[in-house]
Amino acid sequence: MSNKYSYAVWSTIQDNKACEVCKELDQLHWIPDLPDTPQKPPHPNCKNPKGCRCIAVDWNDSETFAFIRMAGGKATFKQIEELEEKKYDPIRKQQEKLKISQEKSSLADDMKKSEPEKAILLYRESIEIRIKIAEKSKDKWNWRDLDYLYNKLTMLLEKQGNYEEALNEINKCKKLKHKELWIKSITESINKRELRLKKKLQK
Ligand SMILES: [Zn+2]
Repeated sequence: MSNKYSYAVWSTIQDNKACEVCKELDQLHWIPDLPDTPQKPPHPNCKNPKGCRCIAVDWNDSETFAFIRMAGGKATFKQIEELEEKKYDPIRKQQEKLKISQEKSSLADDMKKSEPEKAILLYRESIEIRIKIAEKSKDKWNWRDLDYLYNKLTMLLEKQGNYEEALNEINKCKKLKHKELWIKSITESINKRELRLKKKLQK
């Protein structure tokens, strides 16, 4: 499968000639690439005279994918329904978004040397999610960690020689709220970078 967040949904032809085995599996959400998860239909040895006419529909959604993965690679329709309900719970939704943001930044940490361009993209995405969370929340502590992320992002941009972008990002982060929550040493490192970049750009 091409997309790394792809999963499949088992779908029986919803008529009275649907096969018995597949009726049980109808609306199963699963990740076919994982071991110990079902093969895609049609399933072999179908006892239905019409044979197995069932299909798997492919979907991409990182949140659902993460949920199915956590459930061991497959989730019943009931479990998926419960997940959908939770999506409307704002606190739960925020926690899930936070998790996605953290996953992106730790992935960026891992690949900042091997694939800096991708790491830059991931830090940016992570920051974007964090800012959205913080803007929606009344809890000022949601503004923390942005110092860390901006520091990493601008460090990489500087290393890449992309001074203008680095300075641009520093200007953006300086406009954020609740910078008093930032870690002093990180703030200092960003400030030093700002001075350095300004000098470099003057040349
Ligand atoms: Zn079938």
